[in-house]
Amino acid sequence: MSQQQQMGGQPMIVLGEDSQRMKDRDAQSHNISAAKAVAESVRSTLGPKGMDKMLVSSTGSITVTNDGVTILQEMDIDNPTASMIVEVAETQEDEAGDGTTTAVSVAGELLANAEDLIEQDIHATAIIKGFQLASERAREEIDNVAHDVDPEDTELLKQVAETSMTGKGAELEKEALAELVVSAVQAVTVEADDGETVVDLEYVNTETQTGRSAGESELLNGAVVDKSLAHADMPTSADDADVLLLDTAIEIDDTDADASLQLDSPDQLQDFLDKEEEQLRQKVDAIAEAGADVVFCQKGIDDLAEHFLAKEGIVAASRVKKSDLSFLREVTEGDIVSDIDALGAESLGSADVEYDESEELFYVEGTGEDSHGVTLLLRGSTDHVVDELERGIGDALEVVAQTVSDGRVLAGGGAVEVEVARRVRDYADSVSGREQLAVEAFADALELVPRVLAGNAGLDSIDTLVDLRSAHDDGDETAGLNVFTGEVVDTFEAGVVEPAHAKRQGISSATEAANLVLKIDDIIAAGDLSTEGEEPEGGAGGPGGMGGGMGGMGGGMGGMM
Ligand code: ADP
Ligand code: MG
Repeated sequence: MSQQQQMGGQPMIVLGEDSQRMKDRDAQSHNISAAKAVAESVRSTLGPKGMDKMLVSSTGSITVTNDGVTILQEMDIDNPTASMIVEVAETQEDEAGDGTTTAVSVAGELLANAEDLIEQDIHATAIIKGFQLASERAREEIDNVAHDVDPEDTELLKQVAETSMTGKGAELEKEALAELVVSAVQAVTVEADDGETVVDLEYVNTETQTGRSAGESELLNGAVVDKSLAHADMPTSADDADVLLLDTAIEIDDTDADASLQLDSPDQLQDFLDKEEEQLRQKVDAIAEAGADVVFCQKGIDDLAEHFLAKEGIVAASRVKKSDLSFLREVTEGDIVSDIDALGAESLGSADVEYDESEELFYVEGTGEDSHGVTLLLRGSTDHVVDELERGIGDALEVVAQTVSDGRVLAGGGAVEVEVARRVRDYADSVSGREQLAVEAFADALELVPRVLAGNAGLDSIDTLVDLRSAHDDGDETAGLNVFTGEVVDTFEAGVVEPAHAKRQGISSATEAANLVLKIDDIIAAGDLSTEGEEPEGGAGGPGGMGGGMGGMGGGMGGMM
């Protein structure tokens, strides 16, 4: 069992004593069940009525979330096949920002349906081919059913944001938050020279603040810096200020501090301290002479330097996050300065700066002509609340940005899935051979979405699907599920809308992952397969990488048999 030889020019494979091997159906069903298990773990969170999960890390920290990719990442899965499904979520998150639970659930359902076909003796190659054809067709049909929208249609953009937020931490205040999200996206939308609409979400900064309710979240022009004022004697505001962004410390130079010091008399100590004071004095003088009224410093500021800065009437904050500093550069149009001695007025930015003592935040609004950047200040009662809010708002920002740049939306609540499934089934008639069954199985897998939306809402998923199918057969392309009433409604009219781009991306990454898993007919593990779940991180990385590469090898060997 642990040794295998191949003749006829094939390489001879010799496996180690402890290694294990699984082939053909065993390998397939092993992989499929691992992948299905992962997909099933997120299903219950899908849709407005989806439940949340509480994830407790090995260090005891808690995350409460409804976000597919977050759940899968926090689960710390180290089964190699299961990791491929986790990658679906990660790709979807990177490429589309939303739709992760849908993509993973569909991938799991594709594999479940493939398993049935394999049991009917249909070869994986035919299934893979059929899935590929169906996936291409499904994406074409998404283009066909998508509605073009005016990227300046604020009402519709708000609906896109609300649909994305429904069922998330952001839900309760979704109207107010959707408004903020849309305004934020519009603030960073520009018309490029070639007439294309470009949205740059890098200019939207998100800050979180605990203590108040989500409804008190705000959108601010410029930046918010979550740091306290360095010294109590500093002014708390500076209008039209010259702002210095510094990424080095205002402290005694390291070289001097490290040098060993031989002290023979109290005078020498005094001398030494004077020198240190002199050094700090010089740095603060250089800052004052360049004309800075405000300093945001990424590193530390010596107590004495803070005192000198306060005496000069300069506002300062230390230990500002690197990312905040980069954002401040966009807002103030200043340079990030590393050498205080070479500092000149031309490096400074300009802004109105205000320090809020009760909240311990700086508000920085750029005053320059090219200042750009807005900040969403998200509020919530506790850390867990704001964290989940931030995830939900992040998704909403992405989908609204996509809708603005892509200009196409779809009817949600399962409407698009049922319509595309119907069209893919029609297309199946034109596909010959066993691939046809796979194309049909693909269409069935898409309908998992309305089934799960219904099931999660406590509705009968079969009845719902039957109702939806008949509405679509009657030509209602946008008939979807109102999860709150259980009725079939025109979800587009009802304002349940999703961007077309994310849906396309979800279908392609789900198909790719399912096909990757199906291609494997041979698993060679350097350890015991049954204990792989307990392996340390590093151990799982190996077989995971191997699995992908083995697709080709397995195929070649399959051909020989
Ligand atoms: P994902 O991670 O895939 O985005 P979600 O939990 O955000 O998962 O659920 C998205 C699904 O919920 C989509 O199919 C969307 O159309 C559906 N949905 C959102 N709001 C509503 C609503 N008000 N009524 C019905 N379905 C909705
Ligand atoms: Mg979502």
